[in-house]
Amino acid sequence: MTKTPALFVGHGAPMNAIEDNAFSRKWRELGQTLPRPQSILCISGHWVEHCVAITASDRPETVHDFYGFPPEYYRLRYASPGDRALARRAAELLAVPVRFDAARGLDHGTWSVLMQMYPEADIPVVQLGLDADRPLAEHHEIATRLAPLRDEGVMVMGSGNIVHNLSMFQLGRDAPADWAQRFDERVREWIASGDVEALADPGRLGRDAQLAVPTAEHYVPLLYAMAVRRDDDALSFFNEAVTSTVSMTSFLLQ
Ligand code: ZN
Repeated sequence: MTKTPALFVGHGAPMNAIEDNAFSRKWRELGQTLPRPQSILCISGHWVEHCVAITASDRPETVHDFYGFPPEYYRLRYASPGDRALARRAAELLAVPVRFDAARGLDHGTWSVLMQMYPEADIPVVQLGLDADRPLAEHHEIATRLAPLRDEGVMVMGSGNIVHNLSMFQLGRDAPADWAQRFDERVREWIASGDVEALADPGRLGRDAQLAVPTAEHYVPLLYAMAVRRDDDALSFFNEAVTSTVSMTSFLLQ
């Protein structure tokens, strides 16, 4: 079997799940053009734990983990099957203590993207919860162990945002904050050159990093996608845009 693509997606606001915009159009295009995976392992910035956790139910719920949106958003359902065999396989590869969570569903970091990519919801999805107590370099290190999944038909997808500062976000102001633009550009360079050491230490960018990554959870998923990168992968960026203080910059490895 040929290797399955891996990707990091900047997911942005839940509206992207149903809106037709430049970002969601690209997600739909990917779903239509990439080789169809057998299953999907998603690492979303919206599930943070004090251990590594993994969804382990046959029918994961749709979690509406956002506030103040119109009622229709709370009625959205992404009814993909789960994949308990994949959950076990991922845990086996990670070789760290993993908590299997049969009650936990998919959060919008996962389903807002997949609703556009694979609207039929017929591909099994497993979600990995991030262990907040691990330093970034350790996230990358354990994630490298997931690389064999790409030979087993599994699409590894990180979902977050390279720049994610909601407290400074200005609604209606599309122009990027200068620090957000600078940080996004530097991180893109590190991704392009495969500089994992720099990616695991964004704090070296000082105040730009403090503002762009006030908390790590939306940044960390990109390390998981980078960790399964292969030497012969073609890297391509998509949805390269910084709106106010959120970056949608995404990349595909195939
Ligand atoms: Zn988010």
